[in-house]
Amino acid sequence: MAETFEPGVYKTPVINHCLNCGKHINLAGPADGKDTGPPDDGSLCICIQCGGVMAYDAQGRIRGLTEAEMDNICNDPAAMAHLGQMVQAVRLIPKMN
Ligand SMILES: [Zn+2]
Repeated sequence: MAETFEPGVYKTPVINHCLNCGKHINLAGPADGKDTGPPDDGSLCICIQCGGVMAYDAQGRIRGLTEAEMDNICNDPAAMAHLGQMVQAVRLIPKMN
């Protein structure tokens, strides 16, 4: 069972760093408030600092998206729209530093 920070927000098994800005990422939670459990391999991660889009691997580490994952998202207008909304929402969060 994954350790939670608060209901619906899971501690990652390793401390990650955003591949774009280097921000420490050790929590994973749903951008839309719907608890879907801890991230799985291929679950998307949006950096709360810069809005960079990445994915988790099976060990909870952050990695870049594969070409297939990017193709799947880019070829699905609903997924693109949802991802765009989530990135915009994250970018509107006031930043601590
Ligand atoms: Zn970042």
